[in-house]
Amino acid sequence: MTHKAGFVNIIGNPNVGKSTLMNAFLGEKLSITTSKAQTTRHRIMGIKNEEDYQIVFSDLPGILDPHYKLQEKMLGFINQALQDADIFVYMLEIGERKYNEEIVEKIKNTKLPVIVLINKIDKSAQDKIMEEMKYWKGIFPESDVFAISALHHFNTQAVLDRILELLPESPPYFPKDEMSDKTLRFFVSEIIREKILLNFKQEIPYSVEIVVDEFKETAKLIRIKATIFVARDTQKSILIGKEGQSIKKFATQARKDMEQFLSNKVFLELFVKVSKNWRDNDLQLKRFGYEN
Ligand code: GDP
Ligand code: MG
Repeated sequence: MTHKAGFVNIIGNPNVGKSTLMNAFLGEKLSITTSKAQTTRHRIMGIKNEEDYQIVFSDLPGILDPHYKLQEKMLGFINQALQDADIFVYMLEIGERKYNEEIVEKIKNTKLPVIVLINKIDKSAQDKIMEEMKYWKGIFPESDVFAISALHHFNTQAVLDRILELLPESPPYFPKDEMSDKTLRFFVSEIIREKILLNFKQEIPYSVEIVVDEFKETAKLIRIKATIFVARDTQKSILIGKEGQSIKKFATQARKDMEQFLSNKVFLELFVKVSKNWRDNDLQLKRFGYEN
């Protein structure tokens, strides 16, 4: 039996119904929720596991938030999302016609499959729905466009079927039935990433990479050692800060979140290293905890 797996990135304005769609897709099967592990590059909304497939749904927090008003940042975000995803879902709600042309251009130029979802059609009359479909099909002629109601599970199965068709053949990225320490390592690294982004909005690019070197559960606590890879010496100095003040601050924040997430005491050690080529495959694999 072939197995399919991949990342589905969902973007859309706040309130269009992304979380509701997740609930519709995952239902009782939600194996991992990560409301506590908000991340930047990915925020994993949920993972849908079946015997022959695994879909990792993520959204991109802040993509259209005022915080990321800066054009460049938004576009950088989209670029990243387009790189990381296997399938790209652009979600909007019926009646929403404003869009950012540069974002639309980026999405149109990707080689990834794109699915456009017009949500909340339960609020609209049939002729209006047809008109909206036509409008968005005009903007995204190459993409699949679905009119759905995430809340009422209308047409959501068709969307899932299409995602499954488009999903690449691959072994699963995460353990399929349990939260193993490999999965936990991933969340831990994403908590660190979040704290870095919160504390260093301007100076540190989205390109830090975090590798969890040790995740050891003892009787009293969990020992976690992690390395933060940056591209330049200057970034390293910024992260560490004067007399280590900065790293101490965000490490404490991260530790507190980890303790809450893991329901356990955590002893956290962080290291910062300069590495020009952290993007290579080894690191990418380590990041997902498959390095053993
Ligand atoms: P998100 O911010 O994109 O994650 O949006 P949410 O999933 O939190 O949904 C925002 C609001 O829209 C909630 O009140 C949902 O109940 C509502 N909503 C989501 N999908 C639908 C839908 O298909 N129809 C209607 N009428 N409301 C919806
Ligand atoms: Mg939401």
